[in-house]
Amino acid sequence: MSEPANTVPAAAENLRIVLVGTQHPGNIGAAARAMKTMGLTKLVLVAPVKVPDGNTHAMAAGADDLIEAAPVHASLQDAVADCRWVLGCTARSRRVQLEELHPRDAAQRAVLATASGPVAIVFGRERTGLENEELQLCHAAVHIPSDPAFSSLNLAAAVQVVSYELRCALLGDAVARPEGMRTAPPGSQAATHAELEGLFGQLAEALEQIDFHKGRAPESAMRKLRRLYLRANLDHADIRLLRGVLADTQRMARLALDAGQHE
Ligand code: SAH
Repeated sequence: MSEPANTVPAAAENLRIVLVGTQHPGNIGAAARAMKTMGLTKLVLVAPVKVPDGNTHAMAAGADDLIEAAPVHASLQDAVADCRWVLGCTARSRRVQLEELHPRDAAQRAVLATASGPVAIVFGRERTGLENEELQLCHAAVHIPSDPAFSSLNLAAAVQVVSYELRCALLGDAVARPEGMRTAPPGSQAATHAELEGLFGQLAEALEQIDFHKGRAPESAMRKLRRLYLRANLDHADIRLLRGVLADTQRMARLALDAGQHE
């Protein structure tokens, strides 16, 4: 897919991923790779515990150019001095008195903010994250809504999630959420995979019984029917209703078959 002319690279130039006090050089490489796959190139290091080494390059898997071009600063303050907006990523929700943003919201606002200058997204140390003083240097916090009981992502994994959201925001909403890709409304009882497969299995049986296919291979009709039902965002109750209709259809088909055999 080609990038929409100029807009993606221009805005991406102003998006800066800042890694503070990284302890494992391999994570710097993995973070660079995560960024490059999402079209981001501006990596900045703040006081890494170890300088990039062989592990960094092994994990970068071809994103070495980002590391070679990465400025190294002694403090976060220096690294973000020219930024218009600074976001601090934190594994622990509501730890500081900062506005806390969902990564999607943060990404959309970050991309808009690039119109006025560089925007930094800051990631902390593997063991201890960002210090309170560092978070206080940020304008807002970003928390990936992970399981509160196990909330801390690997540093490069967190960079990947946020970079992905930035890319979706750069490409625009139409790409991030194609029409027809709706999620079930909150609180609805969305059907499970197993429930859907149960419905599809019974539908296939019923179609056989009413001789719907008339000698044609059933696969193509089943593919279309699956797509149709999946588009409908079925919940538990919908599945029960449809399976009830199918059960009656099957009962009638059996009665008709029996009657035919007794004629
Ligand atoms: N034990 C540390 C976790 C560090 S993980 C702590 O509790 O803060 C390394 C970095 O990855 C974090 O500083 C943060 O920038 C990022 N990160 C990890 N999990 C995250 C999450 N759920 N949301 C946002 N950022 C996260």
